[in-house]
Amino acid sequence: MESREQSNRQLTKVPCYSNVERRHGASPSVIVIGGGFAGMAAARALHDASFQVVVLESRDRIGGRVHTDYSFGFPIDLGASWLHGVCKENPLAPLIGRLGLPLYRTSGDNSVLYDHDLESYALFDMDGNQTDKVRQNYSEDMSILRAISIVFERKPELRLEGIAHKVLQWYLCRMEGWFAADADTISLKCWDQEELLPGGHGLMVRGYLPVINTLAKGLDIRLNHRVKKIVRRYNGVKVTVEDGRSFIADAAIVTVPLGVLKSNTIKFEPRLPEWKESAIADLGVGIENKIVLHFENVFWPNVEFLGVVAETSYGCSYFLNLHKATGHSVLVYMPAGKLALDIQKMSDEAAASFAFKQLKKILPDASAPIQYLVSRWGMDENSLGSYSYDAVGKPHDLYERLRIPVDNLFFAGEATSVDYPGSVHGAYSTGLMAAEDCRMRVLERYGELDLFQPVMGEETPVSVPLLISRM
Ligand SMILES: Cc1cc2nc3c(=O)[nH]c(=O)nc-3n(C[C@H](O)[C@H](O)[C@H](O)COP(=O)(O)OP(=O)(O)OC[C@H]3O[C@@H](n4cnc5c(N)ncnc54)[C@H](O)[C@@H]3O)c2cc1C
Repeated sequence: MESREQSNRQLTKVPCYSNVERRHGASPSVIVIGGGFAGMAAARALHDASFQVVVLESRDRIGGRVHTDYSFGFPIDLGASWLHGVCKENPLAPLIGRLGLPLYRTSGDNSVLYDHDLESYALFDMDGNQTDKVRQNYSEDMSILRAISIVFERKPELRLEGIAHKVLQWYLCRMEGWFAADADTISLKCWDQEELLPGGHGLMVRGYLPVINTLAKGLDIRLNHRVKKIVRRYNGVKVTVEDGRSFIADAAIVTVPLGVLKSNTIKFEPRLPEWKESAIADLGVGIENKIVLHFENVFWPNVEFLGVVAETSYGCSYFLNLHKATGHSVLVYMPAGKLALDIQKMSDEAAASFAFKQLKKILPDASAPIQYLVSRWGMDENSLGSYSYDAVGKPHDLYERLRIPVDNLFFAGEATSVDYPGSVHGAYSTGLMAAEDCRMRVLERYGELDLFQPVMGEETPVSVPLLISRM
């Protein structure tokens, strides 16, 4: 598969691969767009199934929303850092286990205020029946925030005041972090539709980078290749990058983030069908950012999370104490939703100083950080958001609609995962799924199904248990 300047006329004259050519040894070809977990999973699977694969990645690095930074002299994940579901059912467990990467489980006891688990949101645990009743009583969807206010309108005795009210706001703040969106935009009908794997949440102590690097080994990855146009024809696809060069193949797997699809910076020719365009428009994409503060020494309590409660969820703060998991004197401030939007407009210095001010509210003697890192996932043209969520009034089947292929274009990425949206393992699974769909389609079409091994075949790698501290 060659990168070459080619007019459409030339493309029609030179179909990617005809049946005849194949019989003389050429293998089917696929272009994978995006080098995050979904893209790498798809590319790896098809490469291993003897396809010719090229990955076109707009950034100067692979990993996408998995980004391990080493500028402090040790790994810091500016994107994903947890494996959600530390269990053998997690599709990433075999790979992480084989690499011997340690995990630190953060859910469980010993946290200031509350643990990380979604299940431990007290409002919904203790008063869950009431919120459920709101859901049952109203046919139309509403936001989580509206549902809570309805509960309070009906049962004023449940209304919380003082510290209890502030703690409730902190739970909301944490929930907003989970969905990367404000509570007044999250759908009540869909908020608990995603599946949680068992086993709690394990921090990747050495960062996620070794995992993506392992997937990428031996693949043809073209960095700094920003895709601008995707043309699909009966006999193949033509993908054009920013500098005008084009790539042709039998099929393409699109794994760019939902935010990028929403921005219409990639032109599809012919246009994507209406059902696909509306799924792209209707599924929500939210923002969560990280402001990583590195201190000279540790002056905070030996807990996993530090929370600052406030009158509104916007005013609450949440710090992850990396010292507990990694031994480094680092706190990670994680704003989400509107707060994250506001902070990402600041300079790095102002953002770090904002985070530090929040910390000073609870630890007035805190000494200033010696180094900091600031993420801006919502402004980065390669992501335009952190991860997807169900917006009020929109059906949950949007994830599936995003996934469904259109002719020889396949779609993968966290926003196409029905069960595990917004996660690394979700993105990874969709990459494998798209690879398998693509493999079947291309080979069925050319009548060579029996020549190739299955992508997700029977081969069971030696199972190595996950290394978990804090059992
Ligand atoms: C702050 C933050 C914290 C998170 N925490 C966790 C966590 O702890 N655990 C967890 O499981 N998940 C977490 N997530 C979510 C997780 O990171 C994502 O769900 C997952 O990494 C998405 O993978 P993906 O392959 O779908 O997309 P991406 O990783 O975004 O990959 C898409 C790729 O496409 C590239 N691209 C974009 N535009 C173009 C173009 N025009 N042409 C070519 N390439 C293009 C991008 O550069 C990118 O490399 C977090 C995300 C963020 C932002």
